[in-house]
Amino acid sequence: MSGIPDFRSPHSGLWTQVDPMAVASIYGFRQNPAAFYEWVYSLARKSIEAEPNPAHYALAELEKRGFLHAVITQNIDMLHARAGSKCIYELHGHLREATCTHCFTVYAGEPILQQFLEDRQIPRCPACGGVIKPNVILFGEQLPFAELQAAQKAARHADLMLIVGSSLEVAPASDLPNQTLRHGGRLVIINIEPTHLDHLASVVLHADAAEILPEVVRRLET
Ligand SMILES: [Zn+2]
Repeated sequence: MSGIPDFRSPHSGLWTQVDPMAVASIYGFRQNPAAFYEWVYSLARKSIEAEPNPAHYALAELEKRGFLHAVITQNIDMLHARAGSKCIYELHGHLREATCTHCFTVYAGEPILQQFLEDRQIPRCPACGGVIKPNVILFGEQLPFAELQAAQKAARHADLMLIVGSSLEVAPASDLPNQTLRHGGRLVIINIEPTHLDHLASVVLHADAAEILPEVVRRLET
């Protein structure tokens, strides 16, 4: 996939340089927000520079034509929205907004990160002086409740869940396919690597979703 991998996944490749608990946990953030900002800034830059790939566009197209109800993602790179998807549940948050940890005022995320690049000062709330934190869900934080509930509801009501480019390692998102199965829905898995749910899926394609999904859209046209 383009963009940045799910930062909470142990095999995302993001953790060879830094200790996730030091920079990307709520405890690390409270102790050393500067280290967090150094880390998240490089992620933010990657996601701002990244472009949606053909898989993102194909999913948006499937939604537009009424075949897809919702996208559930653990990525914080916002590429699904940029590709045109409308109904998106971002379980690990996003970088669009940031919130004061003291008074909970919400700010636009990009200017905050931009400012940090320029002055390397920890972003502080103009209203109260509290430290501002981007709306990404760090280790040690609860997932956004309403978002998770909506994703679970979508999983229960799905007659088909497409699992795309996910190793399904991180709970509770990794439990969503089971909810679809329990309610009589079926799974299609498109992932380069095998997953532990492969044996429960109706179709498994160990392939690149950026090639497979546009082909699915093309075949719908004929
Ligand atoms: Zn504040």
